[in-house]
Amino acid sequence: MADCTHDCSTCSSNCSSRDKASFVKPLHEGASVKKTIAVASGKGGVGKSLVTSLLAVRAMARGYRTAILDADITGPSIPKAFGAKLRATGDEGVIYPVRTMSGLQLMSMNSLLEHDDDPVVWRGTLIAGAAVQFWTDVLWEDVDIMFIDMPPGTGDVPLSVFQSIPLSGIIVVTTPQDLVETIVKKAVNMAKLMNVPVLGLVENMSYFTCPDCGKRHEIFGKSKAQELAAAYGIPAVARMPIDPGLARLVDEGHIMQADTDALAEVFLSVEKAREIGDFSGE
Ligand code: ADP
Repeated sequence: MADCTHDCSTCSSNCSSRDKASFVKPLHEGASVKKTIAVASGKGGVGKSLVTSLLAVRAMARGYRTAILDADITGPSIPKAFGAKLRATGDEGVIYPVRTMSGLQLMSMNSLLEHDDDPVVWRGTLIAGAAVQFWTDVLWEDVDIMFIDMPPGTGDVPLSVFQSIPLSGIIVVTTPQDLVETIVKKAVNMAKLMNVPVLGLVENMSYFTCPDCGKRHEIFGKSKAQELAAAYGIPAVARMPIDPGLARLVDEGHIMQADTDALAEVFLSVEKAREIGDFSGE
């Protein structure tokens, strides 16, 4: 259109750029992924990467061929949790994901950096571009469920990733003190815009069980998870305690040994999620 202002909100034309699916990028030729589950949060440090890792551990324990696309480019922490020190390799135009001892396929910025502690000081467009390339340029092999550790927040980087990768559903991770209602509302609205269901709400650091007396303390405030999930029609809820043992497993690269039962209901929701269909690169 000659007079297009690129502001769809004030325009009544029904052109192809309004179609959310038109932003979606295909997988690499020969790659195959059945389901993609985005794990998102309103900000960093709430345990999004931990939840992504635990969901992948649970999926593997149930026999699913599992992958993690670590789209948290500036804070990549997934390889460490799995003790994956290998670097990704590639040929012309294709990157091979790292495979952990347990068979997880994994692609993370840390799998490309020379040193784990090298910082990624890039502008937003480059960061988003790298995350999307982990979808389009990696030879994901026969994946049943891919978990995507999203960049935190609702800025332009997560938005580009949300628009570029076809999603089966979204899991939202919050903590009790984390302006929960606003974050959940934003996530639900964004998911609606993209026509993707919110499959579950994980309230991390929800409580602490005293090792001496066994009493539960809601350190960061009263839980709102059930109430919010009901209000926004989110079908599954998990409450995860603050667990120093879990933090230790992450630090030591032994997340495969973690107990994932707290995520049972949310994982059932993942199992029921739709497959992405014809975005496979075959
Ligand atoms: P995010 O991906 O949201 O930035 P992370 O998953 O990297 O957050 O978690 C931040 C830190 O908090 C990590 O060191 C992680 O091991 C720790 N952590 C997260 N959740 C818990 C928990 N429930 N109990 C103990 N430590 C946790």
